[in-house]
Amino acid sequence: MLDKETIRMLSDRFVAESPWNRVDAKEAISPDLVGVRIFDAPLIGYSSADDPMYAEMQRPEVVGKDFVLPGGWLPSAKSIISYFFPFSEDVRKSNRGGSLPSSLWLHGRIEGQRFLMKCGEYLVQQIQQTGNQAITPVFSENFHMSTKPPFGSNWSERHVAFISGLGTFGLSKGLITEKGTAGRFLSIVTDIPFEPTARAYTGIYEYCIMCGACAENCPAHAISLEKGKEHLPCSVYQTEIAKQFTPRYGCGKCQVGVPCEFKRPSAKKDG
Ligand code: SF4
Ligand code: SF4
Repeated sequence: MLDKETIRMLSDRFVAESPWNRVDAKEAISPDLVGVRIFDAPLIGYSSADDPMYAEMQRPEVVGKDFVLPGGWLPSAKSIISYFFPFSEDVRKSNRGGSLPSSLWLHGRIEGQRFLMKCGEYLVQQIQQTGNQAITPVFSENFHMSTKPPFGSNWSERHVAFISGLGTFGLSKGLITEKGTAGRFLSIVTDIPFEPTARAYTGIYEYCIMCGACAENCPAHAISLEKGKEHLPCSVYQTEIAKQFTPRYGCGKCQVGVPCEFKRPSAKKDG
């Protein structure tokens, strides 16, 4: 049975050594991007499959009734491993300013998603090889997500990360972790009984300083201090971006050039 130390070692090694975490020469949008690393080493949090917060996710004002509980993905589920992969500084820096996504950000969004799938496959395989079971819900055939109103899904990486002690939501609806908000999440449901990570917060928005910088950055005016984030204008904007940059898409202006980009913001120093 794998322990937390081994999970950490395997995850870090995959991030450091996997070619899937580098922009490939055959796919690079421009030659200067070849070999650039997409993600840094992840934060890892753990939660119990029996945590009552998972049932709370089914309330209509949280994720909704379609949210599938951990046992619905894996009947023998005991724990959830939640990952936050921060984008590398190269990816984050490239996307600061302007209204269009940088080429590196587009790679991070699309080839980055493929990296998450490969990393998930690798970790699930490692868990299975030691006699346990595991599944990555978002890459299973039963995962579904609506890209139209009301934008529901049957698993939510950010909510899982919140439950697993990785951070709290921000005004932009990203999750603010100790390594900021610019990055991607992944989770694995397993029958290994890991000790849950203690949540260092109680409030849903506790790590957000409500500075409004994400709202100022948003080219679609989808974020405001009054209403928070509205999915529809963000979705409409990203559809336009997809037409322009097909087969890639992305935006992420609310995640860069803001106090919560790569660390948990402090109200005094950042702003
Ligand atoms: S930019 Fe400011 S308001 Fe927006 S999520 Fe980050 S800390 Fe919160
Ligand atoms: S992804 Fe872009 S359009 Fe959507 S909320 Fe963030 S900044 Fe606005």
